[in-house]
Amino acid sequence: MTGLFDLKGRVALVTGGNGGIGLGIAKGFAAAGAAVVIAGRNAEKNAAARAEIEALGGKALALEADIADEASVADMVKDALAAFGRLDILAANAGVNIRKPPEDYSLAEWHSILDTNLTGTFLCARAVFPAMKPAGGGKIITIGSMASIFGGGIIGPYAASKGGVVQLTRSLAVAWAQYNIQVNAILPGFIDTPLTRGGRQSSPDMFAKVTERTPARRWGQPEDLAGAAVFLASRASDFITGVAIPVDGGYSVHL
Ligand code: NDP
Repeated sequence: MTGLFDLKGRVALVTGGNGGIGLGIAKGFAAAGAAVVIAGRNAEKNAAARAEIEALGGKALALEADIADEASVADMVKDALAAFGRLDILAANAGVNIRKPPEDYSLAEWHSILDTNLTGTFLCARAVFPAMKPAGGGKIITIGSMASIFGGGIIGPYAASKGGVVQLTRSLAVAWAQYNIQVNAILPGFIDTPLTRGGRQSSPDMFAKVTERTPARRWGQPEDLAGAAVFLASRASDFITGVAIPVDGGYSVHL
C-alpha cells in the first residue's frame, strides 16, 4: 500500500510554493519523497521556503518566476529540468485576489486576476506538457476554490477565474489522458493563509462566519491540502482525471 503514494524519484514543481497553501503542498510532496521546485516572484520568500523544506530533510530548489508571464514560465520549466532532469508533477497553485464590488474593478485589476489565476495555470500546464509526454506520463494539479462553485459579491473576477480553472482542468484531462497525464483540481475551502488574512482584515466578522458555515467548525490550515495533493500526484490516482476535489471541511455540501 505505501508504494501507492510514494513520490521517491519524482520531481514536483509547485507554483506559489513559497507560502500559504503552496508551501503546505510542497512540504507534503517532500515528505512523500519528491524533490520539490518552488516558484514565486518574491526571492526572499522563496529562499525561506526552500530552507524550510530542506530543514525537514527534503530536496528543494527555489526559482523566481511570474506565472502570468509566458517567457518567465518557459524559463521556470527550463531551469527546473536543468536542475533535476525530469518533471513529473505540477501543482499550479499560485493565485491572487482583489475584493470589491464588480462595478469598481478597473480593467487592469480584472486582467491581473485572470492573467495569474487562469492564464497562468494554462501557461504552466502547457509548459510542462513537452516534458511529461515523452516521459510517458505526469500529474497536473490545479487549484480552484469554493468560488469555482459559488458566486460572491466582492470576488467577481476571482470567481470567474476559478470557475475557468475547473473547466480548463477537465479539458486538459480529456486531451492528455491518452498520454497518461492526469489533470485534476483541488478546491480548497477557507484556509488560513496571507491571502485570506487580507479578507479577514477587511471583513472582521469573516472568521466567525466561515467557522459557523463550515461543518468541521474550523478554518483549514495549509497542511490540510497535502493529503489530497500527494494522492493526486501519486500512482494511487492513475485512473482519476478531470475531477475537482473539495478539501473544505464540508463547506461545499452544507446547505
Ligand atoms: P497566498 O497569498 O498565501 O499565496 C499565493 C502564492 O502565489 C504566493 O506564494 C505567491 O508568491 C504566489 N504568486 C502569486 N502571484 C504569482 C505570480 N504571478 N507568479 C508566481 N507566483 C505568484 O495564497 P494561498 O496560499 O491562500 O493561495 C494559494 C492558492 O489557493 C491560490 O490559487 C488561491 O486562489 C487558492 N485558494 C486559497 C484559498 C484560501 O482560503 N486561502 C481558498 C481557495 C483557493 P509571490 O508573492 O512570491 O509571487
